[in-house]
Amino acid sequence: MSDLTKLRIWDDPAIHNALSWYLDVAENRRPAKFRIAATVAAGLDPASESEDALWAELDRLTPLFLARWQAIRAGVRLPPAVDGPSLLELCRELAYRMLGHCNFCPWNCRVDRVAGAKFGACKLASGSRVSSHFHHTGEELFYRGTEGSGTIFFTSCNMRCAFCQNGDISTDKDNGEETDPRTLAAMAWTLRREGCHNINWVGGEVVIHLHAIVGAIALLGRDFTPTRAELARAHRTKADRFWQFHETPGAALFDGAFNAPMLWNSNFFMTLESMKILRILTDVWLPDFKFGPGRCAMTLAKTPRYWEIVTRNIALIEEWGEDYSIRHLVMPNHVECCTYPVLDWIAERVPAAPVNVMAQFHPDNFCDPASAKYRDKYADIARRPTPLELDHSWLRARELGLQFETATFERRHAFNTRSMLQM
Ligand code: SF4
Repeated sequence: MSDLTKLRIWDDPAIHNALSWYLDVAENRRPAKFRIAATVAAGLDPASESEDALWAELDRLTPLFLARWQAIRAGVRLPPAVDGPSLLELCRELAYRMLGHCNFCPWNCRVDRVAGAKFGACKLASGSRVSSHFHHTGEELFYRGTEGSGTIFFTSCNMRCAFCQNGDISTDKDNGEETDPRTLAAMAWTLRREGCHNINWVGGEVVIHLHAIVGAIALLGRDFTPTRAELARAHRTKADRFWQFHETPGAALFDGAFNAPMLWNSNFFMTLESMKILRILTDVWLPDFKFGPGRCAMTLAKTPRYWEIVTRNIALIEEWGEDYSIRHLVMPNHVECCTYPVLDWIAERVPAAPVNVMAQFHPDNFCDPASAKYRDKYADIARRPTPLELDHSWLRARELGLQFETATFERRHAFNTRSMLQM
């Protein structure tokens, strides 16, 4: 057992109830979902069937998988992985088939990213690049724990947020190092053995790299051990490589095989097809819920149908009984049009979800008046939120009865928190 489970943050029943599966997997008390998927036999050879047949097989196997997941939650032993193709390989094959007519996200570009002759909105072919991977100590306490969240940071994005605080990563598709599933698996394998509590897939945006990530997870579910060359390749993007981390193989094992919770840290602008694959592999979800239902997603991020897609996907993970927490970043001059509707929707549709109502917005990228990239049309968000805007946001969350205080204020002094909320 690591120190994650000893943290007082689990004393909050809202956090504990919402993230109990994640905690069990992080502590190796339960196998990650990808390990369960490897025990569910596919009734066909994924490589030789049509894509329609593969989707039908996924629909057939998903209820079997969910029943096994629930049984394992209740304490039933994990069966052995099957020798032949399993649900894990089926998910990998489906992600690769999708890449040939890409519909990972609602841009639905339908370009053949394997051929790479035409590009979609994310401008990517089949290659994926990682900017860095490291023990992230800036995530919420239940994710960063005491040893950090094992973060693998991909480049490029399917949204165009003018204020992006990782603009160099999200807009520069050549940032970082080209990678492949084996190198990604080597990164995850190392981070977990170094004690990270989870594998945190993040970007930019991650769904645009679905094929590479599912390929890596499929390897991790099949007794993957990296070669020296793969470890050396992975090491090139390890941002904390000059720190000393003690590798403990036992920290990464359940029942003798690799184990780690998979954390999907995403803008949630994803298709149903991507969601169906991720349902099999994701132990905990972290949607970033930014914009309200008006025009803001278009004017600030050039993203159509944002509200419809993101609310549908969050409602889905709630309906599926998944573990998740939500982030919302308060933006200046967007409290009425974005923060209030986002918080109202959460209160109405997913009131038990832990929410982090974040204060750290700063003008960046095209919204930074000090930058050569600055555009006047973004003047309304070219500043930090005022204390009053933040107070109004938190007050609204409190009036709605949201489970937000623990995730939002865990780094702050309790007195400040209380006084602020007693306005
Ligand atoms: S990931 Fe999204 S933006 Fe990129 S090609 Fe596929 S559908 Fe288009």
